[in-house]
Amino acid sequence: MMPDPPPGARILIVEDEPEFADLLALWVERHGWRQRVAHDGAEAVVSFEAEEPDLVLLDLSLPRLNGWQVIERIRATSLVPILLVTARDAEQDKIRGLGAGADDYMTKPLSFPELMARIEAVLRRANARAVAIAGDELRHPGLVIDGRGHRVTAGDREVHLTPTEYRLLRHLAERPESVVGHTDLLTAVWGAGYGDDLHLLRVTMRNLRAKLAEAAPTRRFIATSYGVGYRFRGGEEAAGDA
Ligand code: CA
Repeated sequence: MMPDPPPGARILIVEDEPEFADLLALWVERHGWRQRVAHDGAEAVVSFEAEEPDLVLLDLSLPRLNGWQVIERIRATSLVPILLVTARDAEQDKIRGLGAGADDYMTKPLSFPELMARIEAVLRRANARAVAIAGDELRHPGLVIDGRGHRVTAGDREVHLTPTEYRLLRHLAERPESVVGHTDLLTAVWGAGYGDDLHLLRVTMRNLRAKLAEAAPTRRFIATSYGVGYRFRGGEEAAGDA
């Protein structure tokens, strides 16, 4: 059971098109959340630091600081959920956004009800994380997943994962040697309504694997079951055949 999202969550809307920003603000308020609009990247950073919102809705192409720079500034101090809302639908932009630490993305033109559902899902996950019992640690050969600080160590090195990458790794590592199907994984990590979003799963998996491989180049912790899903390789199987 996921807890409800916090009532009156505060959402920072970062959008330079005034009319679209107004629409977003209207929809957000209608859902009982509080909102604040920043019209460029620099304003977004100032507003973020002053207000510590519960979620950031972020456009990528912005004046002053662009969206990636905003993610970088925010991620330097905070794990706040970041949802990209962007006109760019180029593959590379999404990959770069998720790699920089965004949790999810939607491409314009978008469905407002779907965007609201995604905000709710992201808030719920963040809230679940906040109330999770601290101190649960998962150990596999060469990999330690610390539930308390959401820290991961691969080989002897600390791996800096986004909250979504962390959940993905944790979900698999809690079920070693089991193939977890795409839909189950998407639903468990992102929430109901995400079961079909294979692209989101693949991009996040690619980033997660790259980070693990950078820390522990001789190991391969996650195996692909083609067309089915992924499997965490426990024990010594993960060693030696990267
Ligand atoms: Ca824009």
